[in-house]
Amino acid sequence: MTGGRGQPVNGHVSHWNSSLGTPPRRHPLLSDADADVCIVGAGFTGLWTAYYLARAAPRLRIVVLEAEFAGFGASGRNGGWLSADLPGSRRRYAAAHGRASVFAFQHALEQTVDEVETVTANEGIDAELRHGGVLRVACSPSQAARLTSQAATEQSWGVAELRILGPDEVARRVAIPDVRAAAFTPRGARIQPSLLARGLARAAERRGVRICESTPAREIGPGVVRTDGGDVRAEFVLRATEGFTAHLPGQRRQWLPMNSSMIVTEPLDATTWERIGWDGHEVIGDAAHVFMYAQRTADGRIALGGRGSPYRYGSRTDPGGHTPQRTVDGLRAVLDRRFPAAAGAAIEHAWSGALAVPRDWCASVWLDRESGLGGAGGYSGHGVAASNLAGRTLRDLVLGADTELTRLPWVGHRSRRWEPEPLRWLGVHGIYAAYRFADRHERRRTSILARAADTLSGRT
Ligand SMILES: Cc1cc2nc3c(=O)[nH]c(=O)nc-3n(C[C@H](O)[C@H](O)[C@H](O)COP(=O)(O)OP(=O)(O)OC[C@H]3O[C@@H](n4cnc5c(N)ncnc54)[C@H](O)[C@@H]3O)c2cc1C
Repeated sequence: MTGGRGQPVNGHVSHWNSSLGTPPRRHPLLSDADADVCIVGAGFTGLWTAYYLARAAPRLRIVVLEAEFAGFGASGRNGGWLSADLPGSRRRYAAAHGRASVFAFQHALEQTVDEVETVTANEGIDAELRHGGVLRVACSPSQAARLTSQAATEQSWGVAELRILGPDEVARRVAIPDVRAAAFTPRGARIQPSLLARGLARAAERRGVRICESTPAREIGPGVVRTDGGDVRAEFVLRATEGFTAHLPGQRRQWLPMNSSMIVTEPLDATTWERIGWDGHEVIGDAAHVFMYAQRTADGRIALGGRGSPYRYGSRTDPGGHTPQRTVDGLRAVLDRRFPAAAGAAIEHAWSGALAVPRDWCASVWLDRESGLGGAGGYSGHGVAASNLAGRTLRDLVLGADTELTRLPWVGHRSRRWEPEPLRWLGVHGIYAAYRFADRHERRRTSILARAADTLSGRT
């Protein structure tokens, strides 16, 4: 790895992962095995599912197969926003299941923030979780108009404790230039993602779950998962491969692997922190169309992310997370603009990861009891909390329990497939070009171009 002043480490999974050092890999699968449940993918979805199943039914034989290592994917690379953001379109879920089901979904996500806090505390997982809430700032008149109207919509859908703050209230929390307004909810926390993934893997193992690393699943079918080292036969086979799903046979157009990229500064000194404030440790985002998300890390850095190059032709992904220089420069410019006090700080690491976007941007959890095939994902960038809720829901589905969770509107939700190439590439790049243009040029109101892009993308 290289790095140092002026030249950040690039790729190598993430700063979160590198800063913890590399633990020895768990043993791969080397022979055939029998299990009750086989889970493919050891990110948050797979690990939470394994953990809750093992907790509820200690006798179950649970095997997790992971191509690389636990937390290799988006779960070890994300912005660490543990937020109650709903991973999909409320309108679409309500059309199929009624408005009350969306209220229940929102409520369940809000409780999930507390659930993760409780479980990490009970299991002795120090994920550097800090419950400071979520602050979204608007830094132009058009962003302020959009933020206020989105907040009103969210309140009408049951989002609890969401408040609009004026510029002075924001300034008392954090020094961000040009803030016109902000939306704040206490329902959100910061985490160090790799710490959570590693801690969860260990917690699942303590409860008897077998995790095989360096074990890519080559074929996932009813009752069996095939790998190079052997087959796992299981009554239930659950897919938890999110942004990597397009690489599986027959799944290329199921979910679009969307890239998100991050940079992290060196630790900032006390004088710089005095100028910035941010003592509440809220996770902070902005209201641009191509938005940024940021956290103040436990060791006093700023980690900031956004969408660089959103999508690679043919749904390809770069497993290591190498980030193009123009994306690093773009994120640096956002950092300097939003946190000018940190403008002199060195960037120590840049990385990228893939998250899964369904054609209608709506996440799902499913289990077909006949074939035993199930899974969860498609969180469209809001998977940190949602994957916990998905894990508890998959537990109930596997155990055949009819619960409040199994009645949530994302259970069994189906999204249509993405268009074939080159339409997929053209569509995503066209939409992001429109968003970038709107961010540069819109003044008082959201531009028509951005509204058209929302409609075209299937987001609204
Ligand atoms: C840069 C970035 C920032 C983000 N920021 C946030 C945020 O702040 N808040 C938020 O809520 N969400 C955020 N997200 C999204 C969030 O991280 C994901 O939604 C979530 O981590 C998904 O978890 P997962 O377990 O479903 O998928 P992943 O963590 O991607 O795990 C999938 C696992 O499956 C494994 N795998 C794939 N194929 C196979 C195979 N064939 N055989 C075996 N194993 C396989 C992979 O190696 C991987 O470990 C962000 C995502 C990215 C990339």
